[in-house]
Amino acid sequence: MSRSVLVTGGNKGIGLAIARRFAKAGDRVAVTYRSDPPEGLLAVRCDVADPEQVEQAFKEVEQAHGPVQILVANAGVTRDQLLLRMTEEDFTTVVDTNLTGVFRVVKRAARGMIRARAGRIVIISSAVALRGETGQANYAASKAGLIGFSRSLARELGPRSITVNVVSPGLTETAMTAVLSDELKEKMAGETPLRRLAQPEEVAAAVEFLASPEAAFITGAVLPVDGGAAMGH
Ligand code: NDP
Repeated sequence: MSRSVLVTGGNKGIGLAIARRFAKAGDRVAVTYRSDPPEGLLAVRCDVADPEQVEQAFKEVEQAHGPVQILVANAGVTRDQLLLRMTEEDFTTVVDTNLTGVFRVVKRAARGMIRARAGRIVIISSAVALRGETGQANYAASKAGLIGFSRSLARELGPRSITVNVVSPGLTETAMTAVLSDELKEKMAGETPLRRLAQPEEVAAAVEFLASPEAAFITGAVLPVDGGAAMGH
């Protein structure tokens, strides 16, 4: 049965892999983008830092595909910097996009899901949320915040048959990590039991599972897709 799926930041990287996977399964998939819309998917322009753009994006998606039944909150940014060089703006921009941005889209999607008494919410966090990383205090704080956020909503929305889960990728080969030096990537891979980075499709497979009928009794979970990198954290 075709479902209405919305993936934020679905025009590239992990988000695009997730969107393509749902589309391949026959779902009605919409993505948000800021820069370039992807081909072959319903794309709505939306900066998750702007509540009005979030509202407008949902209206467009609902008109085309009906109420969102599966929300994948994936949009995220980094502004890496060591603490003493990290500006107030580096911190607040990352938190406003990665954490408050997720609050905005989840709140808007939950409205229809509560009415339908059904829904799946999957939030993309990061292995860094639990492990921490030098130069990523802002990013780690935002991604760790998503875990408490999701688990609270798993309790709050569970009685309405809405599941809320987190996928926590390790370093994944996308534009976000293309800027890192080969040396750093090799070091990160070396610290990973499976000795490599993730591919976006591997993250997408975990998201698809959490949205599937087989995962109906899974909520409040944090599913790592990190080659074992954050094990024990
Ligand atoms: P990319 O940089 O390739 O993609 C990021 C996406 O987020 C883009 O679609 C971008 O849209 C969108 N985005 C950024 N800021 C905003 C905003 N304010 N409003 C709306 N959309 C926004 O990164 P990845 O695919 O690697 O990352 C996807 C998610 O996975 C992120 O949440 C990231 O933190 C997380 N993650 C990534 C890891 C990695 O190693 N790559 C590891 C762990 C987690 P646009 O390009 O149009 O601006």
